Amino acid sequence: MIKKRMGEATLAIVAHDQMKSRMRDWAKAHEKLLARYRLFATGTTGGIVGAACPGLKIKRLKSGPLGGDQQIGALIAEKKVEALIFFIDPMTALPHDVDVKALIRLSILYDIPFACNEATASLLIAGMAKR
Ligand code: PGA
Repeated sequence: MIKKRMGEATLAIVAHDQMKSRMRDWAKAHEKLLARYRLFATGTTGGIVGAACPGLKIKRLKSGPLGGDQQIGALIAEKKVEALIFFIDPMTALPHDVDVKALIRLSILYDIPFACNEATASLLIAGMAKR
């Protein structure tokens, strides 16, 4: 069961395989701001970011291709995730492309802040910190 403390903002992070080192480095560079959030992540992304930033609270879901993207989509639909940082690989075809599209679609549908590269993710997290 996923518990959220009162007043705690939630953020989901996902990175495709070729983008994981960039997500790890981005998270390390923004660790102080990220520490303010309850974080959800797909399995492998959460493991890599958690190892690099042991102070972060990360709830790891299933790996993306095994349903993790869909779990995050469900959390967005339930309003349990308020923003998404999703480093999509722009150069590789993925077996779970339909899940990727579904997650993007739900982010648009529920109008949550949604960043899919480092530059936008940095703006997103800085903007959310001001709320
Ligand atoms: P992963 O999932 O973090 O478990 O690799 C990401 C994805 O490919 O959607």
